[in-house]
Amino acid sequence: MSYAELQRQVAKINDVLNALSVLTWDSRTQMPLGGADTRGQQLATLTDLARRLILGSELRRALEGAEHEVSSQAPDSIPARTVAQVREAVEVSSRIPAELVSDIAALKPTAQAAWGEARAANDFPRFQPYLEQMLDLSRQLAEAIGYSEHPYDALLLQYEPGMTARSLSALLGELKTATLPLVRAIAQKEPPRCDFLNRDYPEDAQREFALGLAKKFGYDLSRGRLDISLYPFEISFTRQDVRITTRYRRDYLPTGLFGVLHETGHALYEQGVSPELTRSALTTDFLGLYAVGGASFGTHESQSRLWENLVGRSWVFWQVQFPALRATFPEQLGGVDAETFYRAVNRVSPSLIRVEADELTYNLHILLRVELEMALLEGRMAVRDLPNAWNAKVKEYLGLEVPSDTLGVLQDIHWSTGYFGSFPTYTIGNIMSAQFFAAARERLRGLEDALAQDDYAPLLKWLQDNIYQHGRRFSPQELLKHTTGKPLTTGPYLSYLREKYGMLYGLGEQA
Ligand code: ZN
Repeated sequence: MSYAELQRQVAKINDVLNALSVLTWDSRTQMPLGGADTRGQQLATLTDLARRLILGSELRRALEGAEHEVSSQAPDSIPARTVAQVREAVEVSSRIPAELVSDIAALKPTAQAAWGEARAANDFPRFQPYLEQMLDLSRQLAEAIGYSEHPYDALLLQYEPGMTARSLSALLGELKTATLPLVRAIAQKEPPRCDFLNRDYPEDAQREFALGLAKKFGYDLSRGRLDISLYPFEISFTRQDVRITTRYRRDYLPTGLFGVLHETGHALYEQGVSPELTRSALTTDFLGLYAVGGASFGTHESQSRLWENLVGRSWVFWQVQFPALRATFPEQLGGVDAETFYRAVNRVSPSLIRVEADELTYNLHILLRVELEMALLEGRMAVRDLPNAWNAKVKEYLGLEVPSDTLGVLQDIHWSTGYFGSFPTYTIGNIMSAQFFAAARERLRGLEDALAQDDYAPLLKWLQDNIYQHGRRFSPQELLKHTTGKPLTTGPYLSYLREKYGMLYGLGEQA
């Protein structure tokens, strides 16, 4: 009876978190500007309500009873994982003082506003005191959550459970060692032709084409929709309603096109969660206070990157899709063939802005952010020294001079909202995506043929069976172990990068 009672209470918490998500989706896609203040209050009220339910005595009582009731079940069964997950969340959340939670929540909007002004005015000192406060609160949060080695470990727990500063530094170090020579070798080569990407592409036609690809991948529009927002995202209110957004640039085709493929990958994950887990603890992130089905941020990102890059930027994909794309944009793509298009959308070109970076240099953007945020957290670096440190790393890794803080240290919103520890999940996602895709190729007979025939159903089914259906039941490490037989490792990703860019740029063996 207690387990059933626990499920009822968890379902309620899941409902509150989904209501929060609906309001968040609305505020980013539909809400008039005037709604911002009261919407902020509504979100704060619901967040507080969810936290109270999680820390309340009712849930605690049901949890204790349920733990007893399911104690004879296999440790990785759904009931055992449910109670374990609720227990961990309750314990970690109760270590975080309510005052700290409200201090962080109160600082977020002002720090974000200061960041926005500082970015617009290229004025880092305006943002500096807010970042110092946010860093201080994040340190307090790390201390409250607790860690054995590095404060970063505690913050990573919110995004990538099981990952530590030590293992992350090792992974990123391998990636850096392998990527820098590739980027430098490519810089010596003739860049591919790209002019046609900047022709005039009407938005409606972009939308129709991209959504057509999303449907081919398996995005179910009876449980989904595509809207426009300033920053693209995916959000779900149970597997029955999984929405994506994108932005279109009329003068640059890849932004909208690959943006849709990326968010579709996230959406396929959420739509593929087993119906049995709807409104359960295994589709609820109690610590981050989100209703979400994915095992971690990195695992989620592995799926967006898998569909966007490993499938959507592959040669076999554009061999199949290009005729239809050219038929949609006959003037813009006149005189361009599939191979020219494929080379253009895979161009490597070091740039200042992370969100515009190519697949290869993207990880260098993450690497420098992670190194800086670790140094800040450890107190090895002061916030006032951040712009210079940033610029030095951009010079070292990307070979570029940073002309302004707007195009440098102020470009991302993350630090103003206190998301220390979330950047690495993008690169973890890249590494994982190659591992999962390599396993699918190895274990799924006929995958190559299916992809060459524009058939994505076998790949989607393999991913659903092995990853999506489980929601948060298994940790990222367990999912990797079950599907690939290995822990998180850079091998398949580095092979993928070397093979792909070696072919594209005729690098031979030297890289
Ligand atoms: Zn993503």
